[in-house]
Amino acid sequence: MVIKSLAGVAKEALRSPETLEYPEEREAVADNYRGIHKLDMKTCISCAACARICPNQTINMVEVNTERGKKEMPEINFERCLFCALCEEVCPTACLVLTKDYNFEKFDRREFINRPEDLK
Ligand code: SF4
Ligand code: SF4
Repeated sequence: MVIKSLAGVAKEALRSPETLEYPEEREAVADNYRGIHKLDMKTCISCAACARICPNQTINMVEVNTERGKKEMPEINFERCLFCALCEEVCPTACLVLTKDYNFEKFDRREFINRPEDLK
């Protein structure tokens, strides 16, 4: 019994570590995983459909300077986001998409609010 237990301990001690060295090593996410948003500011037409459909009032249309003057584009508060992807579904130009990126930890809750320029 004791020998069997010691053999088990030795086996575990020799096994390579299971812990990933995050953030250098990351686990693969599922195909249908919905992560943080990406916005293509060049193709956003400022229609605000994303802001209107959002069920949790996560999207605020804010003014940004573009090559063609001032335009309103989505600012997203990830603290409120449900990652439902309705904003992606409704976007007529497919410029707003949810990525596989889940790396958005913050030290200050105000940093969860991402302006259009930050949604890259
Ligand atoms: S994923 Fe859902 S909750 Fe998040 S911003 Fe889009 S519509 Fe709103
Ligand atoms: S991201 Fe899409 S839905 Fe939202 S304002 Fe731009 S074009 Fe419209």
